[in-house]
Amino acid sequence: MDNVETIISHAERYCTNHGSRLTTKRKRVLASLVKSEKALSAYDLIALCEQSFGEKIPAMSVYRILEFLEAENLVHKLNLAKKYVACSHITCDHDHGVPQFLICGECNHVKEISINKQTITELQKNVAHAGFQLVSPQLEMNCICNSCAAKAA
Ligand SMILES: [Zn+2]
Ligand SMILES: [Zn+2]
Ligand SMILES: [Zn+2]
Repeated sequence: MDNVETIISHAERYCTNHGSRLTTKRKRVLASLVKSEKALSAYDLIALCEQSFGEKIPAMSVYRILEFLEAENLVHKLNLAKKYVACSHITCDHDHGVPQFLICGECNHVKEISINKQTITELQKNVAHAGFQLVSPQLEMNCICNSCAAKAA
């Protein structure tokens, strides 16, 4: 995996190319998410930033920062957990489509995976067949990671 600095500088260039700016606060929030490799709430992030950078960011700003990072595809919001994760493709240039997430219910470790389009289309068909419309095809799967499974055994 790339180190945090590589990821942040990549994100910075990416924002500059888009005409937006990764400000110091935005950088701190993103770096905290990248480092944790876990899903974090806005309040977890406030605490982490205060711990690592000695500055408390008000909740309102953290939400605005997260909105910005989400719009730039640098972080993803997990709807079920209401937490955020850093995108694992910040340093890649390819289009990664709709992200899917495996979430460990024990340690909150999150892994971003891609599912082939065919599976998503199949899913959409089933939803339509049941008389519903899929609002977001983002899947968040309740899992247990191998290291937690090993501990439990
Ligand atoms: Zn992603
Ligand atoms: Zn990638
Ligand atoms: Zn786990």
